[in-house]
Amino acid sequence: MANFTDNQLAQLKTALQQRYLELQNEVRNELAHTQDMENFDVTEYLNNIPDDIDTALVDRQISEMRELEMSMKYLSELEFGDCIDCGNEIGFERLIAYPSAQRCVICQSQYEKAFPQGPNPSL
Ligand SMILES: [Zn+2]
Repeated sequence: MANFTDNQLAQLKTALQQRYLELQNEVRNELAHTQDMENFDVTEYLNNIPDDIDTALVDRQISEMRELEMSMKYLSELEFGDCIDCGNEIGFERLIAYPSAQRCVICQSQYEKAFPQGPNPSL
């Protein structure tokens, strides 16, 4: 695990949680016309996506939420902050800016070259 101070870890945890809540709200808003919002639970929804929903609408948010869930899990397993490809530190500044980042800048640019139509297309 990358060498973060307790203070940095606390900041990163907050950034992850805030981003997750943002995405949750986006998904809620985009699905507002298709779901009964009274009892709508986004986490439940993610675990059981109905076939009749156009998930393309929220695919980007859902995949980022899954990345954030992974990061939050890593955070408690002391693997947080390491690039999933090369194992080097992703870096505090990058993680604060992109809490869902799973790769260091170098590996991310290689990944985007290898998968130009990948989950995060630059439109
Ligand atoms: Zn890397």
